[in-house]
Amino acid sequence: MSDPLNERDQAAAALEMVAGAAGPYLESLGGRPVHDHGADDLLDLLDGPLPEDGEGTLDSVERLLHVGTEAATHSSGPRFFHFVVGGSTPAAQAGDWVTSLLDQAGGLWLTSPFATRAETVVLRWLKDLFGLPRSYGGVLTPSATFANLTGLACARQWWGERHGADVTADGLAGLPRMPVLAGGYIHPSSRKALLTLGCGRDGVRVFARDEAGRVDLEAMDRELGRIDGPAVIVGNAGEVNTGDFDPIDDLADLAGRHGAWLHVDGAFGLFAAASPRLSHLVRGVERAHSVAADGHKWLNVPYESGFAFVRDPELMGRTFGPWGAAYLPAEDDPHVNYNCLGPESSRRARALPIWATLRAYGRQGHREMVERHHDLALRLGATVEEAPDLELLAPVRLCVVCFRYRPPGVPEEELNALNAWIGRELLADGRVYAGTTTYRGMTALRPAILNWRTTEADIDLLASVVREIAARRP
Ligand SMILES: *Cc1c(COP(=O)(O)O)cnc(C)c1O
Repeated sequence: MSDPLNERDQAAAALEMVAGAAGPYLESLGGRPVHDHGADDLLDLLDGPLPEDGEGTLDSVERLLHVGTEAATHSSGPRFFHFVVGGSTPAAQAGDWVTSLLDQAGGLWLTSPFATRAETVVLRWLKDLFGLPRSYGGVLTPSATFANLTGLACARQWWGERHGADVTADGLAGLPRMPVLAGGYIHPSSRKALLTLGCGRDGVRVFARDEAGRVDLEAMDRELGRIDGPAVIVGNAGEVNTGDFDPIDDLADLAGRHGAWLHVDGAFGLFAAASPRLSHLVRGVERAHSVAADGHKWLNVPYESGFAFVRDPELMGRTFGPWGAAYLPAEDDPHVNYNCLGPESSRRARALPIWATLRAYGRQGHREMVERHHDLALRLGATVEEAPDLELLAPVRLCVVCFRYRPPGVPEEELNALNAWIGRELLADGRVYAGTTTYRGMTALRPAILNWRTTEADIDLLASVVREIAARRP
C-alpha cells in the first residue's frame, strides 16, 4: 500500500467520496451550529505516529471527511459573523475543485497558458467590477496581506527609484527610512507587509483626529509638507471595527499635491464599488497607485484568494521581476508570467474559482450580494437601535455592525466585562459566531455580514441569541 503508484486506480474513487459527502454537508450548513464543540474529541483521529506503510487512499480520505465534516468550524455557513469571513459560492467552490483536479503550476505562461489566460481575464473582470482603469497592472495573491505586500513593495521600489536606488536589486541599506503615513484605520496586515519589506512595523506615522481613528487630513497634509522627498500614504477602504472608510478621494488629493504614493487597503471595502448605491464610499480609489483586496472575503471564493492592482504595470515587473536564473523565462519573454509580478513563485491556478463565480453571477449578481449584505447590516443596526438593552456604537456604513449590550441600570465600568463575557458565551453557544473588539475604549460585538448564504432569519437569530445569553448573565 505504501506507494501511491499502487493506488492510481483509486484517484477518481477518492474524489467521488468527497463529492458524495459534499451534498449532505452543504445541506447541513443552514441548520447546524457554527461549531460543535463536542466534536472536538474527533480531532484525536487526526493524530498518531506517522504510518510506516500507509493506511491507503480511501481509508485516509474517509477519515479526513469523517473528522472534517463534524469538527471543522462551519464558517462557510450563514451564521459565521466573526472576523471578516466570506463563504464559497457554488460556482467558486466547484471552480476550486477544478483547480485541484488540474493542479496547474500557475506562475509561468510556459507551465500553464490556461491558468495564465484565466488570470488575465479575471483581473480585467475585477477591474471592471470595481471601476478601476483597465490600464492598471494586477496579480492574484493568496490574501489581502499578500496584496498589501505587493502594493507596498511596488511603492518601496518607486520610492527607492526617487532616491536613485534600485531597492529590488540592492536592498534598503544606505537609504533613509521610507515615510509611511496613515489614519487610525490602518490594518495590522499593512504593518505586517511593511515589516516583511524591511520598512518597519512601527514606523507608520498615524494621523487620527478621534479615538475611533478617523484620519486627520490637515495634520497629514502638514507632515507631508515637512517631509523632504517622496512618501507613501496607506488608505483604508473598510475598517474592521465598524466598516468605516478613509476619505480616499481626499487622500488621493494629498498624494497628488505632495507627489506621494497612495496605497489603498480595500480588503473587503473595495466591494462597495460593485454597487452604485455604495460606490461613493470608495470614491477616488481609481486614483490610487496601488489597491489591495481579498477574494476569500466578499467575493465568496474559497481561501486563499486576494488580488493587487498597481497603476504602473511596469513597476510590478521591476519590483518582482526576472531573477536571472537560467532555467526561468528571460526578461524579454513576450508572455505574461504572473510569478514575476508578485511575491510568489510556484502557485496554484488561483484564477479558476474567481473566473467561475464572476462568470456565473456576473456584475449584477455581485452587486445584489453586496447590497443584500448592506441591507442585512442596516436591519441589524435598526434592531439594535430599537432594543432598549442594546446600543449601536457607530453608524452602519457597509457590512459591519458595531454594538454592545447595555441594559438600563448597569454602570458603565461593568459594561466591558459584561460584553466580554457575552462574547465568550456566544462562541461557546455556537449557534451564531461573532467576536468582540475594543472600540473607543468599549468592548463591543462587531459582526461582519458577507456570506452569500446569510438571510434575514440568520441576522435576527444573532440579535436574539445575544439577548438570550445576556438575560442569563451572572
Ligand atoms: C482581512 C483584512 C486584511 C487581511 O486580509 P487577509 O486575507 O487575512 O490577509 C487586511 N485589511 C483589512 C481591512 C482586512 O479586513
